[in-house]
Amino acid sequence: MLLANYHVHSDYCDGTNSLEEMVQAGIAAGLTSLGLSSHFPLPFTNDWTMKAENIENYLNDIKNLKEKYALQIELYGGMEIDFFIDRQDISDLAKTVLPRLDYTIMSIHTLGKTTDDDVSYIDESQQDFKRGIEKYYQGDNQAFIKDYYQGIEKMVKIFEPDILGHIDLIKKYNQNNYIFDENDPWYQETVRACLDRIAGTKTLMEINTGANMRIPGVGRYPSDWMIPEMKKRNIPITIGGDSHSVGGIIYEYNQAEAYLAECGYHEYWVLKKGRWEAQPLGV
Ligand SMILES: [Zn+2]
Ligand SMILES: [Zn+2]
Repeated sequence: MLLANYHVHSDYCDGTNSLEEMVQAGIAAGLTSLGLSSHFPLPFTNDWTMKAENIENYLNDIKNLKEKYALQIELYGGMEIDFFIDRQDISDLAKTVLPRLDYTIMSIHTLGKTTDDDVSYIDESQQDFKRGIEKYYQGDNQAFIKDYYQGIEKMVKIFEPDILGHIDLIKKYNQNNYIFDENDPWYQETVRACLDRIAGTKTLMEINTGANMRIPGVGRYPSDWMIPEMKKRNIPITIGGDSHSVGGIIYEYNQAEAYLAECGYHEYWVLKKGRWEAQPLGV
């Protein structure tokens, strides 16, 4: 059984439950190590991340929850921090908060210019995604996807976050190959090249099980075909539910664990007493 979840949202950002409710759900599900990872504030207007003025409260709440539930579960204070393709960077505010976190997830959710409020998102809606590719890449899907994976590589190389979040989020609104065909050799080559560069860093690849809960049929991040490619490159993994409500705390965990074992993974990484440790799969 998988005993951890490092991708947990709450009502500090776009989750529906409080931090404490998420912690209680983790305990009830038998988890022993839980990381809270609200969306870090963005440097432009939006309605889905934490607000900058709430950072202190968030960190304080986690500190109190750690004390309150110390005998039941290990808690870690993290954030899901955005890397911006156009800036090739994270926000300045994120850099100042990084040292105060127990761990970090870094992810890319935006495309195009993030200097104004006219931002397009990869994961907001199919229309918005498509609009972004039209506006910033003249409709050249392939050019965008290559930029996206190069952004992922840069993010990992520059910051070496503890966890790389949902590496192939770009498939979220790709139903019926709307934007690209995952079986196309150019796509798989792009992903393989990205994995080559990520391998050997200290960043853990997140097995993100939450996608189907939000949009049935999306599957997991990364896609099944990528797992053997990651294994070949000895890329270490960890687990995250991308849980936005208590019902998602261990969403599709059993399926994920079985598939990882099938692909030859014997361990995943968990935080124990503040340090990342390998934990056997399937026990
Ligand atoms: Zn995310
Ligand atoms: Zn998330």
